[in-house]
Amino acid sequence: MQPLLEIKNLSVSFETDDGMLPAVKDVSLSINKGEVLGLVGESGCGKSVTAMSVLRLLPSPPGKIMGGTVRYGDQDLLQIPIDALRSIRGNKISMIFQEPMTALSPLHRIGTQLVEALRMHRTQSKQAAWKEAETWLTKVGIPDAAERMHAYPHQLSGGMRQRVMIAMGLMLDPDLIIADEPTTALDVTIQAQIFDLIREMRKNETAMLLITHDMGVIWEMCTHVAVMYASEIVETGPLEQLFKDPIHPYTKALLAVIPGSATPGERLAAIPGQVASPLDYPKGCHFQDRCRYAFERCQRNHPDLYRHDDRCVRCFLAEENP
Ligand code: SF4
Repeated sequence: MQPLLEIKNLSVSFETDDGMLPAVKDVSLSINKGEVLGLVGESGCGKSVTAMSVLRLLPSPPGKIMGGTVRYGDQDLLQIPIDALRSIRGNKISMIFQEPMTALSPLHRIGTQLVEALRMHRTQSKQAAWKEAETWLTKVGIPDAAERMHAYPHQLSGGMRQRVMIAMGLMLDPDLIIADEPTTALDVTIQAQIFDLIREMRKNETAMLLITHDMGVIWEMCTHVAVMYASEIVETGPLEQLFKDPIHPYTKALLAVIPGSATPGERLAAIPGQVASPLDYPKGCHFQDRCRYAFERCQRNHPDLYRHDDRCVRCFLAEENP
């Protein structure tokens, strides 16, 4: 079966005074209809850059796609003309950003923006689109939706703006939703409501690429997981297998810091150290300075991504003990 979206060997760098900095290196991922792929890792690992690159939303310069393909149907989204890409954005593939003001204009009322987004991709009267937009605001938990339709973004709280953007991302019933930390700014009740909405949409086979640093959210929402560290994918696999039997030391460490994984009274484990800087990636494995299993070869050579049935792992231990 052909995946709905297939990213192959994507590499992205940023131009700086010190030369090109690699932000994403040789990333390959695929998502089938109805799947929710969680892309997880600490801040600065390259998750958001990967997501933005799919729809060519990275400001260029300084961002530059150095290589790779992003296949959606028979098109490579990195190569098609910008007009063709615009007709896919929002309509077939929608994006929910971490920062709502990335998607909302400060100059127009919420209702006007939602109606415009609906009518850009559908033949619908203004009145019908207004009614539908209002219904979506209610669905994402915005009280007094009819009134809020007339508000400007700055008149809403940050959490409400986030929900407006979620409504905008869901209302066109896209094939794929790319959501970058979509619920981080929301309280747990609204978060649960949004997750229910997304689950509902999955019944229509809507797929999702969900970016988060929170393994708890991954467990709640995803069918598959890709773990990213210092610009590279280090482990991928189906959700239950990866949670039950993590192979990469970084995946193990991420799972060890999930709230609830410590017994009562015990402190949560933290991952010591910081993500290596792209200015200064070590010669061998990018994770070597934080890895408790590191051995001599890890400093000398860079591990490939080794395949284990339907898992992939970038670690010499996985190669030596298949
Ligand atoms: Fe740790 Fe070495 Fe595996 Fe890297 S390759 S994760 S340093 S054991």
